[in-house]
Amino acid sequence: MFFAGTSMDKERDYFMTEATAEIASVASWLWQRGWAERNAGNISVRLERADLQETILKQESKAIALPKPFPGLGGQLFMVTGTNTRMRDVAARPLENVLLIKITGDGTNYQIMSSTGNSQLRPTSELSSHLCIHEMLVNKRPAHRVVMHAHVTELIALTQIRELCDQQKLNSLLLGMHPETSLFIPAGVGFVPFLLPGTTTIGELTVNALEDHDAALWEKHGIFATGRTPQETFDLIDLLAKSASIWFLCRSAGLDPEGLTGSQLEELGRIKF
Ligand SMILES: [Zn+2]
Repeated sequence: MFFAGTSMDKERDYFMTEATAEIASVASWLWQRGWAERNAGNISVRLERADLQETILKQESKAIALPKPFPGLGGQLFMVTGTNTRMRDVAARPLENVLLIKITGDGTNYQIMSSTGNSQLRPTSELSSHLCIHEMLVNKRPAHRVVMHAHVTELIALTQIRELCDQQKLNSLLLGMHPETSLFIPAGVGFVPFLLPGTTTIGELTVNALEDHDAALWEKHGIFATGRTPQETFDLIDLLAKSASIWFLCRSAGLDPEGLTGSQLEELGRIKF
């Protein structure tokens, strides 16, 4: 929605305010849950071109080289959180901490299209990982426009346990701890062994893990999740954290949680939405 008869800048600023609102509320929850200490956590949202008027898209802006080409994302627009920004600041002052960027037609550069807030702001240092995931999503799950990374304490704690650093064991634990986890995340999570963030290898392994799952756990680091909206993506992370919390609660009481039985999981699997 745009105001008729206003300048291009005003239209863009209005758009930014609207489009960042949902990112800001999710950033607030990530901070409040303790999943985004310091400048941890980043969010990107692929926009539909129809979200923006052509006048805004035509503006000239310096092209900045991407570390690798993303031909599958040529011309696409993204809202992304800025590098070194804190989620609590994204929540409080989204226009100063979120950018609108456009990938050039050949997918080799990006342009910053935001006009409001902080002109020094640059996209998250994890932009390349986010774009690798978005490029896969465009082909595999085009309805998924959101990629979110957070340091979810309960899930990181699970991957500190050597015997749980195994995709099948992790999923059996997570899906067994609560019916809603098995209902809403039936495919479970992908598991990515520990690697330095920002490397090509961890990017490739994360994309592979997310091809078949809506979330991937990075060993001893955190989670990457995809979804249709920021809220839906947060919900998925929240459900997984709930399952991990139940497991730890039982273990810290000295008990071994039973988990949902095979027949209970089967019954749940028959529920249709
Ligand atoms: Zn991280």
